[in-house]
Amino acid sequence: MISKKYFNLIILILIFSSLNYSQKKNTRTLFQSSPIAALLNGVMNDNFTVSEISKYGDFGLGTFNGVDGEMIVLNGKVYRVDNNGKVTMPGKLTRTPFVTVTYFHADTAIMIYDSLNMKLLQEYIDKNLRSKNLIYAIKISGKFNYIESRSEEKQTQPYSNLADVLKKQSVFKFNNIEGTMIGFKVPTYLQGVNVPGYHFHFLSKDKKSGGHILDCTSGNIKVEIEALNNFELKFPATVDFYNLELERKATSGL
Ligand SMILES: [Zn+2]
Repeated sequence: MISKKYFNLIILILIFSSLNYSQKKNTRTLFQSSPIAALLNGVMNDNFTVSEISKYGDFGLGTFNGVDGEMIVLNGKVYRVDNNGKVTMPGKLTRTPFVTVTYFHADTAIMIYDSLNMKLLQEYIDKNLRSKNLIYAIKISGKFNYIESRSEEKQTQPYSNLADVLKKQSVFKFNNIEGTMIGFKVPTYLQGVNVPGYHFHFLSKDKKSGGHILDCTSGNIKVEIEALNNFELKFPATVDFYNLELERKATSGL
């Protein structure tokens, strides 16, 4: 039988470890595995794996090596929407050339019952942001009257730039669909590092459809926002990235 002294010690350890756990998980940090300019200019492979994502966040978006579909990270689970619109959960050793995640803790929540298109929805969210100079994680869940999303075909080497790949993108259209938009708003001064402005991916509630959002019309939705205070950028440790002449290349076009 455990003595009372040891029992109290175990309880204390449990309390401290849970405090430590919650502190770690609320970092208010955007983590990113690569600058977007690398992906835009054809660095479509890296060694960063799906299993490593959970060290940095439980909420976010990205793609997979060879731009093999759109990535959604929601509640710590990683999903892939492929070129045919099919949703699967990639294996832990699947690699990604670009992923951006945070541990999501909303500090603002807004209910919207109006039917707003993408432009109006973004203007509405803009009014609720405290500064244009911060990065925001944004989760929008509920019913959407319309969602238009895309994915793209897996590329083989030698890779073209992303703008060329997206000329052949697959577009998916959904009416009256429930689900979650997962995304970020990034200040324009970070162009080349991340995608300036709003960038959303979508995952339906039944986890059967999604993609990179091109357009939407809201129904009844809840918008949750977290202002992030920190930004952590990893650089790909690959020859392709080291040799890329980024200084003279495009920094937009997603
Ligand atoms: Zn995207």
